[in-house]
Amino acid sequence: MYAIDDQVIDRARIGDDYLQPLLATAHRSRSQRPRCLCSASETGGVDMYVARVGGRYVLKRMPGTGPHHAPGCSSYAPPAELTGLAPLIGTAIREQPNTGLTRLTLGFPLTHHPSRTSVRNSDRTTDTDTGEHVDETKLTLRALLHLLWDDSGFVRWVPAMSGRRNWSTIRRHVYWAAETKRTKTSELSELLWLPEPFTVANKYEIAARRLAAFAPLVGPGTKQRLMLGLGEVKNLTPARFGRHKLIIKHAPDCPFIVEADTVAALWHTFGTELALRQALPDTKLLALLTFGITRAGVAVADRIALMSVSADWIPIESVFEHTLITGLIAHRRRFTKTLRYNQPPSTPLASLILTDTDPPTACYLTCATSSGPPQPADPDLPVTQWIWNTSVDAMPRIPPATHRTNTTRPHQASTTARNTQEAHNPSDDKEAPPWPIPPAAPTNGSTSTHCATTSASTTP
Ligand SMILES: [Zn+2]
Repeated sequence: MYAIDDQVIDRARIGDDYLQPLLATAHRSRSQRPRCLCSASETGGVDMYVARVGGRYVLKRMPGTGPHHAPGCSSYAPPAELTGLAPLIGTAIREQPNTGLTRLTLGFPLTHHPSRTSVRNSDRTTDTDTGEHVDETKLTLRALLHLLWDDSGFVRWVPAMSGRRNWSTIRRHVYWAAETKRTKTSELSELLWLPEPFTVANKYEIAARRLAAFAPLVGPGTKQRLMLGLGEVKNLTPARFGRHKLIIKHAPDCPFIVEADTVAALWHTFGTELALRQALPDTKLLALLTFGITRAGVAVADRIALMSVSADWIPIESVFEHTLITGLIAHRRRFTKTLRYNQPPSTPLASLILTDTDPPTACYLTCATSSGPPQPADPDLPVTQWIWNTSVDAMPRIPPATHRTNTTRPHQASTTARNTQEAHNPSDDKEAPPWPIPPAAPTNGSTSTHCATTSASTTP
């Protein structure tokens, strides 16, 4: 339920047309905020705000309030401290609830100076997974990809989402996520291009619309404007004259030319993602790239960031994480994947948060190269810990799902931090698999299929 202007609104009805005038009024009002009633509190709910997305008014959670929602609520988000998001909030990412906009500070250029190639190449080392210096006040290309994925809601999983995600859904929600974001000089949605779902019957019309979208990139001057392209990588193959070409799914007739030094930087920075795509045939490889268009109409990639996702479009960082996530999905569990943004893999961040345990469980995957164990749980955050040291242990038993009757959880949830020994009893492993109790099918209001983590109105 939501409370808007003293009216209680059914959660399932919030996207209906007849509520748009009410949301429009709340959008203009500065005095009274809508509230999500998922979680009992002394103030009677969690404050929300109204943003205009895709020509419609939608409810979004207030900055920093994600952990205050019930884990089953579509607006729940893990504590930022468990993810790579925390250092960027208020610096590279500034949400402005009064306007519904988010201001972004990008750490990469959106123009290309052909005469400054050597400088551009050396800049690539700032966008690496290798722990080299990254300006925490700016978004790397990978961090922007993570932000778009996070805000599109594709980090959240409930069993009802099974089989409901495809490129058309992904494209629509990423555009919606971009619509409320602005860079220093531009609307993000005007910079962003995702290929239309390809059909042979409409290939000429699709190509014509793509050329029209790219047209602003072709112009006079020494500086070349760049756009952001997001798509699933089909292949990266050698092309003639020492270059490569990047083929994006749904745009087979639009290869992106990639210079040899860019390919080398890609292997250096995203070798893990490329290897995962080679090793795990059921995964996908997503790319966010900046690109320009030559006067002859050829698309040329400037910088590329990669992200591996599972068959259900959940981001993964390793074979171990793939094993954990595919197992959770097969066992009808609910969780929210966390993302690193600018943080290197050596920083111990939670891999995902189980949202069907009470309190939620932060799952950590550590290994010999991690920088020590994760920080002890914040006693003020209702989250327990589950740790899998992938260097020495088989997967510990997964905490069983708690069967809730509604999305409301006790306001004073108990907090119990468990260490590896508590979570993992080797003698138990000999007799029990990691999956102790196959959870029952969802049966109540907490099974919302709403996907967007920040919006209460989207349902991929
Ligand atoms: Zn809520």
